[in-house]
Amino acid sequence: MKAVIISVGTELLFGQTTDTNAVYLSQQLQLLGIDVMYRHTVGDNPARFRQMLDLSYQDCDLVITTGGLGPTQDDLTKEIVTEALDDRLVLHAPSLEKIEGFFRQMKRPMTENNKKQAYMPSKAVILENAQGTAPGFALESGGRTAICLPGPPREMTAMFVSGVRPYLETRTESAMYYKMLRTFGIGESALETVLQDLIDGQTDPTLATYAKEGECSLRIASKRPARAEAEQAVAEMLAKVKVRVGEFIYSEDDTDLATVAGRKLIESGISISCAESCTGGLFAAGLTGIPGISTVFGRGFVTYSNASKTEELGVSAEILERHGAVSEETALAMARGLQKRSGSRIAISVTGIAGPEGGTPEKPVGLAYIGCIFDGKEVCKRVMSRNVNRNWNRNHTVLSMFAVIRGLIEA
Ligand code: AMP
Ligand code: MG
Repeated sequence: MKAVIISVGTELLFGQTTDTNAVYLSQQLQLLGIDVMYRHTVGDNPARFRQMLDLSYQDCDLVITTGGLGPTQDDLTKEIVTEALDDRLVLHAPSLEKIEGFFRQMKRPMTENNKKQAYMPSKAVILENAQGTAPGFALESGGRTAICLPGPPREMTAMFVSGVRPYLETRTESAMYYKMLRTFGIGESALETVLQDLIDGQTDPTLATYAKEGECSLRIASKRPARAEAEQAVAEMLAKVKVRVGEFIYSEDDTDLATVAGRKLIESGISISCAESCTGGLFAAGLTGIPGISTVFGRGFVTYSNASKTEELGVSAEILERHGAVSEETALAMARGLQKRSGSRIAISVTGIAGPEGGTPEKPVGLAYIGCIFDGKEVCKRVMSRNVNRNWNRNHTVLSMFAVIRGLIEA
């Protein structure tokens, strides 16, 4: 299948809205083994949209649109697509009921133009919108397929997962299967070097590395006639990869490090508290982003100043003076004080230099110490972030804290 993505909306042309939908769809279609040949953006202009549509079908058979499905006058995607694919709009009763229900629930009067959203092409497969009112649809005619999705990214992505992906999976000749591995503690170039021969010789499965902020992902993908074959091919490559870099892999389904560590804490019922200096609460924010963490998270301190490290955590002035606020000694003293105050089984602290100022040759910007006490066992990890900028250093330091926790629990 050759696909075209058309993003509809004048706000996109004005640069007011960033076209994240097209990026998402490109990624998802690639994973399904569908080639995206073009991406177009058009304003809310029926004639130009129609022109783009006709042009797309000259050498492609699948067009996916986002935007312009709403209730207002300028939302014309559905009308144009229906006309282009020789269908007509008819009232879709279940959609109307859903829209009416939505307004009842919100206790808002339903205006007449909202009804417009319930008119769908007569031959279309209707894609339910779990996050909003405008349904999407898939329509086929004479070898041409159009899939029309709403503009709001939350609605679009949910609809893609629940409706579009299953729809497309039944129509592609081959099955794509992939695993997105996440690693921490090894750089992209090192990862690539270790896997070079596997990457070089690849046709299927394919192996690709992606660097993200301070992290590196690894995708193993296979496209075979049957899904079971693709799964098998991925599993075999995964085994080879694990022999070489298994220690750095923390998830095989694209789950982030904070979530992996947080879930481990929750599953094993290990209580945790934190005291942060250079990360200023980012670690606690990451932790509290994980549903269910309330069962184990005790308390989080932001002890930025020396005085607060002493007052809240009992770090002695002598340690601070002798070793400095950014030191192994201070990090461990913070963790000890925190452990006493919180009683948590894990007490984790961090102190470092986020930059851009404040670095010295001995203690450069990007340096941080993570102190951690787990059931009485003390560890201190020295972390050196690649000093890209202040945010990078702070985020990387937080990741390192989650890596420490994961390591301790798994040990
Ligand atoms: P619409 O479905 O055209 O009424 O779009 C509703 C809202 O979705 C717009 O106001 C944008 O904020 C957002 N939106 C529309 N198209 C896109 C897109 N391609 N990428 C990201 N956001 C979009
Ligand atoms: Mg619009």
